[in-house]
Amino acid sequence: GGLFTGLEPIQTDSLLRLIQLAAEDDRPGKIDVGVGVYRTSNGATPILSAIKKAEKILWETQETKAYLGMSGDKKYAELLKPIVFGDDLAQMDGLIGLQTPGGCGALTLGFMLAKAANPATRVLVGTPTWANHPPVIRGAGLEIVEYDYYLKGETRIDFDAMMAAFDAARPGDVALLHGCCHNPTGADLDAGQWAKVRAKCAEKGIIPFVDIAYQGLGDGIDEDAEGLRGLVHACDEVIVAQSCDKNFGVYRDRVGCLFVKTGSEERAKVVNSHIMQIARTMWSMPPDHSAAAVRIILESDELRAEWLDELDMMRGRIVDLRKRIASSDPRLAYIADQKGMFSMMPLSPEQVEKLRIDHAIYMADSGRFNVCGMADEDVDRFCNAVLEAMD
Ligand code: PMP
Repeated sequence: GGLFTGLEPIQTDSLLRLIQLAAEDDRPGKIDVGVGVYRTSNGATPILSAIKKAEKILWETQETKAYLGMSGDKKYAELLKPIVFGDDLAQMDGLIGLQTPGGCGALTLGFMLAKAANPATRVLVGTPTWANHPPVIRGAGLEIVEYDYYLKGETRIDFDAMMAAFDAARPGDVALLHGCCHNPTGADLDAGQWAKVRAKCAEKGIIPFVDIAYQGLGDGIDEDAEGLRGLVHACDEVIVAQSCDKNFGVYRDRVGCLFVKTGSEERAKVVNSHIMQIARTMWSMPPDHSAAAVRIILESDELRAEWLDELDMMRGRIVDLRKRIASSDPRLAYIADQKGMFSMMPLSPEQVEKLRIDHAIYMADSGRFNVCGMADEDVDRFCNAVLEAMD
């Protein structure tokens, strides 16, 4: 037998299957709320004008495509620091920032760094979580300790279960946390819960690993980072996997950043040498194009303001749709309190399938749906169909 004859096929992500099913359905009135990108009311995912302008500047001014070096665009990472950490924390000693291919690259690099630092580290993961989190963590060779984060039927966070899991953690364990706009539930920790989480991390010696892929799409740039910044104040070491793919709308260009709070410049040098070693084996150097575009936006007051306006507009649409869905029935009122692109309907996979068959409404088997995946004029029809399925 050859190398591949013993391979068993891997079940494809059910979300990818859903995308295909939706694409094949040509019934009029189809509502595709499965896919996880921002959409305008007419179903488009447009390129932000701030990005277009930055790309034009880049095209006009870039003189070489020669290698930029292993750190990628250093200015890009420096300009992102105040956005993620705020002006004060951004100045702290020993804060590493490294450009990565998307949030995925930052997650992979961060978990591999944790593995290199302490092979026995375990990762606390609240479920449900983004489908790619567990494979990335296992791929880095780390053990996962799961706890229930969200009670779908009750449409609320199971904070007691979360705290029980943190109480049972060992010093040096890592806790994966969604910075904002929890995917897939939309259920973010409130300020009081964040305070308890950071106190617990500090007390138990748990290292927070914050995945922040939707900053600015919940309540606003600073508001969405409050939980993260509180952790950075409270804990000696913090890992952050950041993505610009959603808030700059550059999904396919893969723009992200890994940040590590190490505590000192001296420690940062050592940690950075490991990060570089790991990154070298995976992508050697991160792709340049849209990180450069993001840098150009952040360097210019004018383009920065334009980007923030466009981000406000995206967030505004998401918040409006949330309010409309929430006001359709008391059972959906929780949708208005949740953040970001996703929420979860308390539906069984059978009910989700019935929506697909009877109404051409496409959402994930879990009941996760993209709030801004539907057109304005489809909201009532969407709500009525979901409520009918719930009865
Ligand atoms: N984290 C979460 C929670 C996500 O939902 C995603 C993307 N869907 C990512 C990280 C990765 O984002 P990127 O496309 O930048 O790799």
